Amino acid sequence: MSGPCPNITGFPMSNSSSVTSIPVATLGTPRIGPRRELKTALENYWSGRIDEASLLKTAAQLRADNWARQKARGVTVIPSNDFSFYDQVLDTSVMVGAIPDVYNWTGGEVSLATYFAMARGSQGEDAACEHGHVHHHHGHGAPAQEMTKWFDTNYHYMVPEFSKEQTFALSSTKPIDEYREARALGYRTRPVLVGPVTFLKLGKSHDASFSNLSLLDRLLPVYIEVLNKLATEGADWVQLDEPCLVLDLDANEKAALKTAYSELALKVPGTKIMLATYFGELGDNADLVAKLPVAGVHLDLVRGKGEIDTVLSKMPADRVISLGVIDGRNIWRANLPAILDRIEPVVTGRGAHLIEIAPSCSLLHVPIDLDQETALDADLKSWLAFSLQKMSELSALGRALAVGRNTVKDELAASAAAAAARKASPKVHNKAVAERVAAITADMANRRSAFARRAQIQRARFKLPVFPTTTIGSFPQTSDVRKARAAFAKGTITMAQYDEFLREETRRTVEWQETIGLDVLVHGEFERNDMVQYFGEQLSGFAFTKSAWVQSYGSRCVRPPILFGDVSRPKPMTVEWWKYAQSLTKRPMKGMLTGPVTILNWSFVRDDIPRSKSCRQIALAIRDEVTDLEKAGATMIQIDEAALREGLPLRRSEWKTYLDWAVGSFRITASGVADETQIHTHMCYSEFNDIIDAIGAMDADVISIETSRSKMELLDAFVTYKYPNEIGPGVYDIHSPRVPDVEEMTGLIEKARSHLTADQIWINPDCGLKTRGWPEVRSALTNMVEAARQARGAA
Ligand code: GLN
Ligand code: ZN
Repeated sequence: MSGPCPNITGFPMSNSSSVTSIPVATLGTPRIGPRRELKTALENYWSGRIDEASLLKTAAQLRADNWARQKARGVTVIPSNDFSFYDQVLDTSVMVGAIPDVYNWTGGEVSLATYFAMARGSQGEDAACEHGHVHHHHGHGAPAQEMTKWFDTNYHYMVPEFSKEQTFALSSTKPIDEYREARALGYRTRPVLVGPVTFLKLGKSHDASFSNLSLLDRLLPVYIEVLNKLATEGADWVQLDEPCLVLDLDANEKAALKTAYSELALKVPGTKIMLATYFGELGDNADLVAKLPVAGVHLDLVRGKGEIDTVLSKMPADRVISLGVIDGRNIWRANLPAILDRIEPVVTGRGAHLIEIAPSCSLLHVPIDLDQETALDADLKSWLAFSLQKMSELSALGRALAVGRNTVKDELAASAAAAAARKASPKVHNKAVAERVAAITADMANRRSAFARRAQIQRARFKLPVFPTTTIGSFPQTSDVRKARAAFAKGTITMAQYDEFLREETRRTVEWQETIGLDVLVHGEFERNDMVQYFGEQLSGFAFTKSAWVQSYGSRCVRPPILFGDVSRPKPMTVEWWKYAQSLTKRPMKGMLTGPVTILNWSFVRDDIPRSKSCRQIALAIRDEVTDLEKAGATMIQIDEAALREGLPLRRSEWKTYLDWAVGSFRITASGVADETQIHTHMCYSEFNDIIDAIGAMDADVISIETSRSKMELLDAFVTYKYPNEIGPGVYDIHSPRVPDVEEMTGLIEKARSHLTADQIWINPDCGLKTRGWPEVRSALTNMVEAARQARGAA
């Protein structure tokens, strides 16, 4: 037989050292569909346009297509239960019956209605503030479960909620149903479950008197029941995802892992467990993993490249090792011969029958199919691989390892050629940029004078009242604004017409701000589709896709920019808009920019240079924009760093390095201006306790943060730190359509006043207003300005 000879079950053949194929796994695949079919179906279902049967049918079709595509690409260890209507962690809560009382569940199989109530609230309301930051507003009915980022990805999971009296019971047959469904289609899959310890660790409770891990003994019987049922159906292997193994774990957490896997080994002895770790190195958890009684371990060898030999030397000799060598977090095509050079000795050493090939993590985090990108630059396209292309890479590796490189020599040659071309391409490497980064001096990251001096100069210059009022930047992106943008993109209106429309929106917004008496104005950001994309599109080194969607949460998907080359700024990006906006008013008009760390963290980044280096390149480009704005007359410039915190590494030991270069990049961006120019920054979150030193080190003249819902408690970090610069703690929760009244906001200002000095405080909303409607915004900001007036009277 020539060509691939997939081992149908996909599992290592016992005791054979000469194998014809090495199992190839994906660990999980994107579920949204190549044309976001799941998004469409979900949104149609939620709005009542289709019924449940029709939603279920679409889902089944997506799963079938997914299995077929994997098989066609040579994947032999095909997962099931990687599909989800919303989120795999929510699926797990539902599977084990961890359903808070508010959802009025009375036991039995959890209905789709309850599932979606947990996902979206029983009124189906949810609201998002930008990519990384999601909130649910609390109307009537049951609120949605909280949502937060899945490790350091931009995927969000629904946070499980436990109580001290929590009990668990198998409440969903989904893993079993999907196993059967695949089996009926001819696939013997390896079901995937979120592991019990990661599941408990990611959960929260409202009661501090117990630890989630104390629920493990109650939880395990449900896992045992599921594994037993799967075994009865014929599943000899299951994949249990325990990405918590790449985090800093305390003794209790380590003990919980031991208990969990010993118990499973004891109670489900016939089932082989592939323990999947990913998103980083095992580090000090490697000894623990080595001792767990599991049949296989998956290792992330992209991020854990450096520890491969030490970790493998610890693993028992009979354990199957899944080598995660293709990057599941990024979109670059692999250099296959280089990977083979690295892993061939490992495979020979351990025995090919004990090896599987896999991506570093589930393919959930990459777009589906590169072939859909018909407009990408041909060179760039030849350097990329999305989920389907990665499957082909994996199977080429599997064949090369089992039967020799010659069987896939064309694939290997093409891959090496692409890597070489990328390495040498002038599209990637720009000598002038490299020289500029190399020439960065310490001085470039320092303002001319310390804050105290700058503050004096700026106060004399601006003569703002105490408690100056401003907003964060964007005003409502109404359907009119989105329609005009779409019409311009389609060519149904001309550039001149679109421009006129945007100018008119801007003019109205500036005039209105003046009318209600805001002190520092913004132009409204109507010309921006997205705070990162807008800049990426104008910078060299970034590319954008047509359909490279990645799930962010539920039905929401994003198309992250692809940062592929050295970054430079061909020409000013925002100066003309700023000039126009400032021409409409005598009050200060803030120049509005996105900072380098945020641009970096919301993009697919290069894997050929460190992130820190790309960040400095972006910093220089935005610094040029800052100084151009200053030259054009801007007196206040805001550099948003919404995503600075979310870029924190998973391991604490790596935080300092990250914060050093991230803050350093911000300072490079901000420090090219005179003392009299006021630099603002904005961060749309509020947990600053553990990074307050870094926030202080950013040395922005003014920082605006989100505080309204925490009732200003989140200012504590700033107080303890004795943060000296100016702060605008948000007084208006922009994640809700609710309009706060004057009294509520004066109350918040008073609270802030008890933490900070009066001359430190600015009055502003929590974040930009783009997701809100004009009527709410008008009332809320009018009230906000009035609240500031009253507070001034009292000050
Ligand atoms: N200036 C941006 C806006 O107002 C900031 C958004 C953000 O930080 N997420 O929309
Ligand atoms: Zn924000």
